[in-house]
Amino acid sequence: MSQIRSIKGTHDILPKESINWQRLEQIMHQVCRQFGYREIRTPIFEETRLFTRSVGEETDIVSKEMYSWEDKDGSSLTLRPELTASVVRSYIQHNLGNHAPSQRLYYLGPLFRRERPQKGRQRQFHQFGVEAFGSLHPEQDAEIIALAWHILSVCGLIANTKLHLNSIGSSDCRSAYKDALKDFIRPNLMQFSETSQRRFETNPLRILDTKADHEKKLLNGAPIVSDYFTDDDKIHFDSVQQFLNAMDIPFSLNPKLVRGLDYYSRTIFEFSSSALGAQDALLGGGRYDQLVETLGGKPTPAIGFAAGMERILIALESIEKTKSDPNLDIYFICLEDDGLPVALSLCQQLRNAGRNVVMDSLRRSIKAQLREANKSGAGHVLILGNDEIESNTIIMKDLKKGEQMTLQQSSLIEKL
Ligand code: AMP
Repeated sequence: MSQIRSIKGTHDILPKESINWQRLEQIMHQVCRQFGYREIRTPIFEETRLFTRSVGEETDIVSKEMYSWEDKDGSSLTLRPELTASVVRSYIQHNLGNHAPSQRLYYLGPLFRRERPQKGRQRQFHQFGVEAFGSLHPEQDAEIIALAWHILSVCGLIANTKLHLNSIGSSDCRSAYKDALKDFIRPNLMQFSETSQRRFETNPLRILDTKADHEKKLLNGAPIVSDYFTDDDKIHFDSVQQFLNAMDIPFSLNPKLVRGLDYYSRTIFEFSSSALGAQDALLGGGRYDQLVETLGGKPTPAIGFAAGMERILIALESIEKTKSDPNLDIYFICLEDDGLPVALSLCQQLRNAGRNVVMDSLRRSIKAQLREANKSGAGHVLILGNDEIESNTIIMKDLKKGEQMTLQQSSLIEKL
């Protein structure tokens, strides 16, 4: 039988890497606590229509990247390709808005998109993200961006990172802008790709996101959205910038920045890293003031972002080699089968006292076990042989100092 391997675009996180994942997750939990955000965990799969309605039929994600299937009862289900829609669904379903006028939530977890795999782009990947519901004010935008900034700072990534900021205005402004953009593109429409021509009808803003050079040229001189801002849009965006300046968070305005999902309004932003290759987006987000209503909830303004955890780890790896030794205190060696009940009981007592203990379970020679103990990074090795079993003692060796002593088993915990 041919060997069974993991599916293209998915990765095993091996023990030497998982320690870095745990560290990153710890930073995320800790920074979210500092900002008053609480964790939410939603299911891995949802009804397909949750994503078609929120992310948008014409987006890459919905049109070609979702893992969907018909369930036995005929319903269409999908592995979540992003988490904002799921969090909004949960927010509405559990009436979270009734419990508190503002809800600050965060999540961590795997997502699934059938993209072409490459470095930094996978079919199963992980995002950390936050969502703040209830406030339409610019200080909420500034807080969300500051939280992202704080995480990247604590990770040590900020020096290689750039914050791109834009506003795509509220829905009033956007419909006028869409018309102006279409008027600008229409005379040359046939020179655009099939995808852009389709987007021309469904979501012309997405054409600005083109990666094709000839299309970028065709877009030179296109109208810019800020010319169509309402007074409130302008005041909102100016305030966001003022607050970021007050917090010493540098940003660059990028009027061409658009996001790959349909639900955004007003402030949108992206953090990119020069420590990454072609896939340089670390984190992206924005305001989505209509989404809760679109999905059947009461009108509720909201803003959030999502960060790719693999990309953060790739960026970290390129600036420092992270260590991977687990924090082991004791390596236990039992040389006699008869001694196993005592050995296992001592290990258990040591763990109850808060020590990290591993007992060798391969029954090899003492030489082989000591070699393993040295490799393990443990501070001490405990050896239980025939003599020690008979005299209720145990040998303790300090692996750093190389010193060794014999102790009564009953005084072991106290001694360690
Ligand atoms: P998005 O949900 O598309 O706005 O993406 C938010 C972040 O998730 C991006 O900035 C990336 O860091 C990360 N990301 C998106 N797609 C992938 C993918 N296929 N593989 C790995 N990371 C991804």
